[in-house]
Amino acid sequence: MPEKLMYDAIVVGAGPAGISAAIVLARGGLKVMLIERGRFAGAKNFFGGVLYTHALADVLPDYWDRKPPFERPVTEQGYWLMSPDGVVRIMHKSQHYQKEPADAYTALRSGFDSWFAQQAVSLGALLITKTTVVDAIRDEKGRVIGVRTDRPDGDIYAPIVIVSEGVNNLLTQKMGLMKADLPPRLIALSVKEYIGLPSKEIETRFNLSGAKEGLAIDIFGDATLGLPGTAFLYTDKQGISIGVGLLLEEFVQHRLKPYEVLARFKNHPVIKPYLAGGETLEYGAHLIPEFGYDRMPDLAADGVLVAGDAAGMVDALHREGTNLAMTAGRLAGETALAAHKQNDFSAGFLRAYRRDLESTFVLKDLKQYRRMTDFLDSTPHFMSTYVNYANEAALRYFSAHGLPKRDMEDNIVKMLFQRRSFFGVARDMLKLFQGMRG
Ligand SMILES: Cc1cc2nc3c(=O)[nH]c(=O)nc-3n(C[C@H](O)[C@H](O)[C@H](O)COP(=O)(O)OP(=O)(O)OC[C@H]3O[C@@H](n4cnc5c(N)ncnc54)[C@H](O)[C@@H]3O)c2cc1C
Repeated sequence: MPEKLMYDAIVVGAGPAGISAAIVLARGGLKVMLIERGRFAGAKNFFGGVLYTHALADVLPDYWDRKPPFERPVTEQGYWLMSPDGVVRIMHKSQHYQKEPADAYTALRSGFDSWFAQQAVSLGALLITKTTVVDAIRDEKGRVIGVRTDRPDGDIYAPIVIVSEGVNNLLTQKMGLMKADLPPRLIALSVKEYIGLPSKEIETRFNLSGAKEGLAIDIFGDATLGLPGTAFLYTDKQGISIGVGLLLEEFVQHRLKPYEVLARFKNHPVIKPYLAGGETLEYGAHLIPEFGYDRMPDLAADGVLVAGDAAGMVDALHREGTNLAMTAGRLAGETALAAHKQNDFSAGFLRAYRRDLESTFVLKDLKQYRRMTDFLDSTPHFMSTYVNYANEAALRYFSAHGLPKRDMEDNIVKMLFQRRSFFGVARDMLKLFQGMRG
């Protein structure tokens, strides 16, 4: 019989959550194995994407000296409300965004995750790639005491396992933390392209003064055919990240093909000129969990914790996921360290993790926006009605018709109630308020 492979802790999945947990555990002096199914950390991962430095700094206070492979700082950001032929832009630019390190940077995950995982390795974690964890190993009392991988002789033992496997949470289910697969109404599918362009061209097109400026735009309305969903456009150093996401259910119900929705968005008259002459260097699709606070799995059981997308920790409204994942991974790591100190790996002890998370923005925000999916479900017209209205009202407002301004203003108000009754608007606004305030 080969000797048992024993570690102090096992982390499954080298994304932001898992790497953060591994860093905390390795720095705490534990023997930790970080297992990743991809060829390297980041090989299977992509996002919009904007990374937030507050969460990174909490995990790795000297991250800046370690030269993270960011793309551009986000120095201007906001929303575009897109109609079939126009756009209302709500953008914010401030000197505040110019400080270094900035609050947020655009990044490409293949580079970032791989760098982040190397920081865990430099602190003592063992990273094993090209290895998929297929199941839990349990003792006679049903407690998790290790994982089974797809390698021959691939059983690895540890008193604590942190599952950070991302949105396809098969292992989370096998660990008994989640009872069933998620319905398509609670998962979004996002398609993204990374389009290469010379940096000077990007700067001219987006009015950026150099590589130390960058843009992050979230787009609603016609970009997603007026359906509840979001599109995005972010500037990288030598390329543009562009994508569009809808709930899986919308793709099915409206018989939409994800690549056609993205192609349509790229051909919008407002978007097309920004992409002209660019070359598609990366193309992919990825799921985003939207099940939220009320449908989260149990975050702890005997010998196991779960963090990040696997537990639905995404605030889609604010395009935040990596920072929730890093914060949850860090707290899972800290709970595992405390469990080692007490030599107590029971679910009762590990539930401290959920209590810690409840006091952070992670669960506070998820709780606040718990009704957002229901809001979008019950007001499917929201994006088309109000976004198109905003564009038509702007056109009326900014055009001179030879009419007195009072008449023009009255017309703009009338236009709204031609689209939706007074009570309909009142109901929509109340539901929006409830969705935003929890
Ligand atoms: C299109 C898109 C745009 C987004 N934009 C943003 C954004 O702008 N800003 C933001 O903050 N967030 C954004 N997000 C969300 C963000 O990407 C996620 O919330 C974040 O990556 C979650 O981190 P994680 O570590 O939990 O999971 P992941 O990053 O998914 O990492 C999970 C890892 O586990 C590995 N794995 C899975 N199963 C196994 C297994 N059985 N064995 C071994 N390894 C396994 C995977 O290969 C992967 O490396 C976006 C997501 C998408 C899809």
